[in-house]
Amino acid sequence: MYLDDTIVAPATPPGEGGIGIVRLSGPGAEELLLRFFSPSRLCERLDSHYLYHGVFNDNDGTPIDEVMAVIMRKPRSYTREDVVEVHCHGGSLTVRRIFDIFLASGARLARPGEFTLRAFLNGRIDLAQAEAVIDLIRSRSQLASKVALGQLEGHLSRKLHTYQQAIGDLLAQIEAAIDFPEEDIELENMHALGEKSGSLMSDMDKVVKTFDSGRLLRDGLNILICGKPNVGKSSLMNGLLGEARAIVTDIPGTTRDTIEEDLVLGGLPLRIVDTAGVRQTYDPVEEEGVRRARRKVETADLVLLVVDGSQELCDEDLLALEYCREKDVLVVFNKVDLGHLPVSGTFEGLPYVRISALEGTGLEDLIAAIQNHFTENSGISEGRETVVITERRHRQALVRARTSLGRFREALVGQMSPEFAAVELRDALDAVGEITGETTPDDILERIFTRFCIGK
Ligand code: GDP
Repeated sequence: MYLDDTIVAPATPPGEGGIGIVRLSGPGAEELLLRFFSPSRLCERLDSHYLYHGVFNDNDGTPIDEVMAVIMRKPRSYTREDVVEVHCHGGSLTVRRIFDIFLASGARLARPGEFTLRAFLNGRIDLAQAEAVIDLIRSRSQLASKVALGQLEGHLSRKLHTYQQAIGDLLAQIEAAIDFPEEDIELENMHALGEKSGSLMSDMDKVVKTFDSGRLLRDGLNILICGKPNVGKSSLMNGLLGEARAIVTDIPGTTRDTIEEDLVLGGLPLRIVDTAGVRQTYDPVEEEGVRRARRKVETADLVLLVVDGSQELCDEDLLALEYCREKDVLVVFNKVDLGHLPVSGTFEGLPYVRISALEGTGLEDLIAAIQNHFTENSGISEGRETVVITERRHRQALVRARTSLGRFREALVGQMSPEFAAVELRDALDAVGEITGETTPDDILERIFTRFCIGK
């Protein structure tokens, strides 16, 4: 990885748009800009962080476009190097020509994520923050982008820093014992070291646990709509789709048996699966159907059990309940427009809402109940400064750090030589450093940054 050259890439996506931006970073950025850009107002030098209007010319001095240009001198820039942006008209041809001129004049095409990689290598952000940039770009709900922004602002990094300091303190004490072997670690001291590492371990456990909620934020809460035929499952699905702020994807692999949609409701990413097609599921003879529905139930984070609230329960309702008993269930009494009966004792203890999918009433209550479920299970809510890990890599590293601390404690208790204890602490430090990027192997760095798009 080298930083002595100047990289260039389009910073806006290809295609037509209001403006297109070509971005440069590196020691030659300013010189390259000045070669092709003539500001409309004569000035001796372009001030940093000011936008200048002017014309971008090609090598022969032929105007290519009317543009705005800005130079952000180091270190106050995204990469901590000199960064230049040329804002031109948004047709892909113009962006392409400007970009080609820079390429032909000595700039190198940036690799995916290379601007962010430079920000990392130059110490402006750590690796966890760089990864948050990808999450932020990819996030598809308010809550997910809030968590990503928190990580970018350093919530996770600060937490990791406290771990590094605490482990560093422990290590200093152990190293003192190694350096002065005649002074044994006193029992009292041993006790304090054990306690310190214990509380670190339980704090790490808590953070490791947030990975599950991180997954929910990234992939969405898996919601299964279940119930006997004709209770209004499809109508409910349609109602929710109608309420959705954004329908994110048509999920490939949707079969005739199930309809799945990714959508964002109440700021939450959700994947909703309607089992409308698996009616025969409740026929015990139809084994395949039963198996398929079971599999769907197993992967669900929450089951919406739809029941016709205007009628007495029947065996099919009970069978449907039977299928999802093991899961978190929210009972949805539908068809309240036809009247409603008191809640049967069968559902005692289960949360419920009453709706009319036909008239669209009660959907807000349903969405609020889903939000509630999410908040209770994930511990993430709007407005709280929580550290949430969303990367499997972070989880693995924290588990490793925690395991090493566990072995450190065993070494203490077993009164092993302090060298053993020190090895474990160093390994724990290493593991934490892998998250922040201090000790991350190059191949992992590369894998992380190639997830970015070109120009980021
Ligand atoms: P599914 O088989 O569970 O998917 O049920 P559908 O959504 O296909 O609905 C079955 C029938 O019930 C249709 O005729 C719907 O119009 C009707 N239905 C659905 N929801 C309501 C409701 O809230 N009130 C009333 N009155 N009818 C409804």
